[in-house]
Amino acid sequence: MTIATIIPAGYYEGMIEKELQEIEKLIRERIREMETSLAYLKEETKAIEPSVSLGRLTRMEAISEKGVNEYVLAGNKLTLEKLNNALDRITKGIYGRCIRCGGEIPIGRLRLVPEALVCVPCSSGKK
Ligand SMILES: [Zn+2]
Repeated sequence: MTIATIIPAGYYEGMIEKELQEIEKLIRERIREMETSLAYLKEETKAIEPSVSLGRLTRMEAISEKGVNEYVLAGNKLTLEKLNNALDRITKGIYGRCIRCGGEIPIGRLRLVPEALVCVPCSSGKK
């Protein structure tokens, strides 16, 4: 089941088209940033060759740094997926609606978290 089947279209009441375009631009910028960062992190998380002439400590540091980068990489991949999903929702005309309560997600929240799927009360479990 897609989100489109849960929430009826017509979210424009609370969001003017100009704002939506602004958010879309923001999402595209973030996607570009994420892709750049992913390309870098993929390079940084390549296997560390044991033959590399690093001292033992340097090698341990390199491995620990690799772990951190892998963690960031996984997070960024997820964010990228969410951002693409948000673009998809804009195309389908269902962007900006909370997937839990169906209410509008305030534009201020979307500016901060353009990939947000739920409104603040829903995300904090107050509803
Ligand atoms: Zn909600």
